[in-house]
Amino acid sequence: MRRAKIVATLGPALDERETLRAAIEAGIDVVRLNFSHGDHDTHARRLETVRELSVKLGRNVGSLADLQGPKIRLGVLPDGGVPVPAGAEVYLVPGAEELDDYSSDGTPVLPVVYESLASDVAPGSLILIDDGSLRLLVSRKDAGGVWARVIAGGVAKSKKGVNLPGVAVSAPSLTDKDVADMKVAVDLGCDWMALSFVRRPSDVIDARARVEALGGEAPLVAKLERPECIEDLQAIVAASDAVMVARGDLGVEIGPERVPAIQKEIIAEANAAARPVITATEMLESMISSPRATRAEASDVANAVFDGTDALMLSGETAAGRYPVEAVRTMARIIEVAEASPQLVHPSPPSPDELPVSRVVARAACQVAADVHAAALVVYSITGSSIELVSKYRPHMPLLGLTPRETTRRRTALMWGTEAALVPMKGQSTHLTSSAERVLVDGNWVERGDRIVIVSGTPGGQGGTNRIMVHRVGDPVTQ
Ligand code: PEP
Repeated sequence: MRRAKIVATLGPALDERETLRAAIEAGIDVVRLNFSHGDHDTHARRLETVRELSVKLGRNVGSLADLQGPKIRLGVLPDGGVPVPAGAEVYLVPGAEELDDYSSDGTPVLPVVYESLASDVAPGSLILIDDGSLRLLVSRKDAGGVWARVIAGGVAKSKKGVNLPGVAVSAPSLTDKDVADMKVAVDLGCDWMALSFVRRPSDVIDARARVEALGGEAPLVAKLERPECIEDLQAIVAASDAVMVARGDLGVEIGPERVPAIQKEIIAEANAAARPVITATEMLESMISSPRATRAEASDVANAVFDGTDALMLSGETAAGRYPVEAVRTMARIIEVAEASPQLVHPSPPSPDELPVSRVVARAACQVAADVHAAALVVYSITGSSIELVSKYRPHMPLLGLTPRETTRRRTALMWGTEAALVPMKGQSTHLTSSAERVLVDGNWVERGDRIVIVSGTPGGQGGTNRIMVHRVGDPVTQ
């Protein structure tokens, strides 16, 4: 049984229904709607198909709406791009979507879709284009734009990303596009919402207020991809509901050589704070064009599991690659083998005397379940927060979340090691025990005579999660 979850980005490569079906069967737990690409109707259609297939296949598949954030991009360039040779000077025109002319007296001219480019950079600032494959050094500014010397050249192509490492970008954390996309994501009932280029805790707090004002309640995933957020990691993790190690932009901003250690740091912080963490980008990159992963990619996936990540994400591999189903299957297999390895050591949970009651109960429940050799651990939760907490203590036995809410059930798809089922909201704990027994027996998880441990709150009470019960399957349900 695989415990770490797989997030797969939707895109043209998964648009064919049978391919999507095969990819879900291969192990997709959460689909990512990437709002940096595609229109609203396309996202809605894709999500509808995912939901329909997941019901048919009996798989709990959640959804993550990933907002573009203040990503700076080149504007539209002519077909074939604009050559920017090393050593040349280029001229960047801020706030331009398109130009009449892409060369002025032989100088390449590039539109950049960001009004404040000239005020944010200074002579000496580095400008990276297309994940750093083009590197420019700002030499001077004039009234119309920015002059820069090309350090690493190539061909600039339409809409490629622009990064300004070390520059405090002044763009607002939510753009007008993000606000419009957020409304669509709320209307679609997406289970999680990811915020790109988070810089400070208030970015998450402000976004939450926006989501709530739209009538939404999706928990927020902070994508950690700016250097500032690494400096303020603890506070940003605390302000978020989950985090993502967004290694693509992070690697461009701080250099790829610093990513592995920072990945470990982020995962450790998220685990200590009991927030789900997703490790993302280039995990099986070569599978965009090859049916087999490289040894280095297999190691990367396994090492993210050893680091303690809750979920691993596929981007281009499933959105635009030639082998999307194979990529999901490969990732699932690497995770399973890593999880069966003696190298897998779960981090020791924080000491209980510093913890709120719900975490003490979650931790104790895992201990009780281990001590009584429980065949399964069941957590009843309306919002899903207690399921998330128990998941963070990495119980060895199957973990079943029971909830009366469909949104909670789908949300658990991102949580490490968690399966989930719907039960009607009833105040009686006898009802909960019978429901747990029925789901576990029907799913062939347990047999008569097995012990199970059930975590819940006092029925009808306000005490939060405060009960741990040991029950033997088949025994009369009396309490
Ligand atoms: C990343 O940069 O790693 C990432 C996940 O963000 P995006 O795919 O939106 O660039």
